[in-house]
Parts: sequence; structure tokens; C-alpha cells
Amino acid sequence: MKLHWVCFLWVLCASVVNGFSLDREAFTFTNYDLNVRIEPEQQRLGVRGKITMRNDSATPQKIAVLQISSSLDWRSIKAGGKPLQFVSQPYTSDIDHTGSLSEAVVTLPEAVPPKGAVDLEIAYEGVIVLDATRLTRIGAPEADATSSDWDQISSKFTGVRGVGYVAWYPVATEDADLSASTNLFDILGRWKTRESDSKMHIQIAVSSNDEGDRPELLVNATNCLTAHEVQHEFVADCTDQSLSSMVPTFVIANYEVVDRPAIAVHYLRGHDSAATTYADAAEKVVPLISEWFGPPRSKAQTADLADPNAAPFENGPLLLTSLTSTDPKLAGLVAAHQLTHASVSSPRPWINEGLAHFAQALYLEHQTGRQAALDYMRLHQSSLSAAGKKQAGSPKPEDETIQSLINTADEELYRGKAMCVWWMLRDMIGEQALKKAIAPYHPELDKEPSYMPRLIAAQAQKDLEWFFDDWVYRDRGLPDFKVASAFTHKTLPEGYMVTITVDNQGAAGAEVPITVKFAGGEISKRLVVRSKSSGVIRIEVPKTPGEIVVNDGSVPESDTTNNVFKIEAGDTIK
Ligand SMILES: [Zn+2]
Repeated sequence: MKLHWVCFLWVLCASVVNGFSLDREAFTFTNYDLNVRIEPEQQRLGVRGKITMRNDSATPQKIAVLQISSSLDWRSIKAGGKPLQFVSQPYTSDIDHTGSLSEAVVTLPEAVPPKGAVDLEIAYEGVIVLDATRLTRIGAPEADATSSDWDQISSKFTGVRGVGYVAWYPVATEDADLSASTNLFDILGRWKTRESDSKMHIQIAVSSNDEGDRPELLVNATNCLTAHEVQHEFVADCTDQSLSSMVPTFVIANYEVVDRPAIAVHYLRGHDSAATTYADAAEKVVPLISEWFGPPRSKAQTADLADPNAAPFENGPLLLTSLTSTDPKLAGLVAAHQLTHASVSSPRPWINEGLAHFAQALYLEHQTGRQAALDYMRLHQSSLSAAGKKQAGSPKPEDETIQSLINTADEELYRGKAMCVWWMLRDMIGEQALKKAIAPYHPELDKEPSYMPRLIAAQAQKDLEWFFDDWVYRDRGLPDFKVASAFTHKTLPEGYMVTITVDNQGAAGAEVPITVKFAGGEISKRLVVRSKSSGVIRIEVPKTPGEIVVNDGSVPESDTTNNVFKIEAGDTIK
């Protein structure tokens, strides 16, 4: 009898859910036009504006879902000036720092056909206070949690980041769950892909306090008219061209500024020496970055965070970081990344972030030599090879596509692996050719995943299709090289010819350096070894060869314990 009841309830619940199933990702928000009022003293935000939503699903949609942070409330949703019926409900999701969203389920005047669009007039308001619920509820210590989720509006310091931190503008996503390994990244990745052609225009007005402080307002956007004062308010008017790589963010504080040609560093009182150190380090990196990625297209902006332990945040040419103590070397490394974003941007993370990390390796090489760059890349490679081992065996075809550099939402891949891919490309085609390939890149023309690979292929004197296939279009894991055999031939008058066969047991091919070491020196040559195959190379050395080393660390590999081969006396053919 009991069981019967359970079944009955289950059937009933299922039918209610089906009757009211929401496709939260049916609509793409193609345009935002928002008027934002911020009252720092009250920690309040009020927004009035218009959004355009396009039905990207295959079926007509009569219901639209709009989500904002749970600390904000919907005031009205209209179409053509007429109020629409909507139900506001809490929706648990870790896409917002509060771990929950205020979700409006809106009944549209009529069903929107596939590819059709609807304009809505919206109004919402509420507070944005320090809140790290999404982290503390999965066990993060309070202090760590608030240093990570530091977003808030307050009279002393206001810093609010967009999607993935605070839903201060409407979004529509399935529930994100931080306790499920890559779930939040996947959902954010899907949202950003949907928003790749979306535009945002925001006007932000900040009310000034009674003491007549003149706080500075910084907004992360493609274009911003300088903030100016209008009737006790500071106003900024900003536009974003593509929301796939840009996270709309605003910061308000009583900043002072170190202003240099390529960078402005906004710092809080007392932090002037760290700010100057950072600005100086950045200016020194400008020639290297400009030579590689062109002159800066916008001025890099760095702004201080009030909490000295706050986790830094970077998005495009904006870097938010605590400027309490800054080591010049570390500052140069960070600035190389930030300035690269100011010179080149892309809607594709493997290009956008991959190049910025590649620039950090270039900076280290420039400062202290190739080995320093290889050591830096090795830090990222260890996590890659761990991931590679996990998926060892036969990677599923669908994972090859989902985890490819062109599709992945996994930071290890589009940052760490992409950095190594750019480094390998430079080693393969040469520095000048790679610079020439990057120079004509325009994000507006990047409509196909093959756009950048084609620019590179046009400058390369060799076939690279197999390389892009193994590393960019598909995730084939990592190579695994080992010396299968080596034979030494005595040549006249005093040399040795070493014939080396290298096996690659991995499913990704690469061009790898092979080094023969002898007393007092070494000689390296490069060899392409395709996936699951072997390559042969001959290297001539002046003295008895001692050992062979495959890979100098520039090619990520799943197993590097088998890369050294000792040449025994018996291997020499006289
Ligand atoms: Zn970056």
C-alpha cells in the first residue's frame, strides 16, 4: 500500500514537472541596454533597461526565464509598454555568489518562433553585499571563501564582477553546482558561447556621499566614455561588443592613480610603492608584447582590491589585484599577461588566454633564458599529464570533441595546454613566421575555428594539419615518447653518427627535440613523430655519444620517465 502511494506521488510529480518543464537555455540575450544606479552607502543597485532575447531552440517558446542574483528582486517586466505576468521564484545555482538566483518565469504575449526575437523592458533592484554562501556551504573556510567571492557594493569599496560571480544583469542558465567537478565551468562555457555575438550598453550612475568624496568608477568594457560628474552623480557610458570573453565588471573606490602610456594603476591610499613597482614593471614589458602581438589597442587598467588576501581577477585588459606588496619579477610576469590582452583579444579562449599565458613564457625566456620558460610551462604540464593519464586507454570520440581546445570550458586546457600549443608552434615554424601569422588576426573575422589555424598555415613552410587535428580541433591527449633504439656509426676522421628511432605511444603527434650528449657538449635536432608511430633521425656528434634525451620539456607528455636513453659501448658499429 505504501509503495503504491509512493508510485502515485511520483507519477503525479512527474506530470507536473513535464507540464511545466522550462527550457532555461532556449533564449540567447542578444542585446542589453541597461541604466544602472548604484548607491554605495545603501549597498544598493537599481536597474532599468531593455533586453532583446532570441529563441535559439528548435521549438516556439511562450515562456522566458530571466535570472538575477538572489539578493535582487524583480520589480517589473514589460513588453511594448504592457506589464507581463511573471512568477518570481528562488533557483539554487552556484553561478551567483549567493548560491541562488531570483528567477522570473515570464509568460510572453505570444510564442516566439525559433530564430524569432522579443524585446522586454525590465526593472529590478536590491543589495549586493559580501556573500560567499556558494563556497561556505561546500565546506570552504569563511575567510578563504570571502577572499575568493569578494564582490560587494559598499561605501568604502565596491567591486562587482559579472556572470560566474554576481548575476547583476539577467542571465538564463541551468543550475550550476560547484560540488560537481566541471559543472559550473561547463554551464558558464555554454552561456559565453551563446553570448559570443551579444552586445551590452550600460550607463552607470553612482550617487556621491554627503562628505563629497569623489570616488573613481572603473568599468570593464570594450568602449567607455570617461566618467563625469552630473548633479552629484558620477556617470559612465560603456559598450561591450562581445560578451563571450568579457565579464561586465565595475569597481568604485577612492583611488589614486599611477598613469603611464600603456597602463594606469589605480591604488588605495598607502599602496603607492606597490602601484609604482607594478606600473614600472609593466612599462618594461611593453616592447616585448608589442613586438609579438602589436601595439596595445586599449590602455591596460589595474585596480587595487580592499582585502589584501583577495584573489586577483583578470578579464581582458583589466586586472583587479591587491597592491600591498609587489615583487618586480612577479609584476613583470603578471603584466606580460595583462598587456597581451590589451594588444590582442579573441572570442576563443584558447587564443585569448592561450596567447596571454604564452606571453608569460616568452617574458621568462626573455628575462632568464629558455629553461626558465620551460620550467614555468612544466608547472602547467603536470596537471595536463595527470588529466592525460586519467583518460588513457581509448578516449571516447565525443570527449575528443568536447575537450578540444576549440570547445573546452576547462581552464587547464584553454590556459595551460593552449600555452604549450603556442610554444610548440613557435618552435615548429619559427618566431618571425608566428608573429606574421598573429598580426592579421581580427576577432571580428573569427567566425570559424579554422580561421587562426589557416593564418598560421599560410606562414608555415610545412604541413601542420595533423598538428591542429591532434592538439586544437580534437583532444587526443598527450604524446608519450621513448627511444626505441640507437645505433652509433664511427665516421671519419673523428666523428660519430647516431641513428635514433623514437616511438610515440600517445595518440597526439608532435615535433620534439632530440638531444645527443657527449663529453663536453650536446647536439639537438627536431623530429616529427606522429601519434602511435615511430620516427628516425640521424645526429652527428664529434665525440663518443653518452646519452640521448627525447624532449626538452617543450612538448607536454603523459610520461617523461622514459625519455633518457644511455648509449652502451656495444651500440657502436665500427
Ligand atoms: Zn587572461
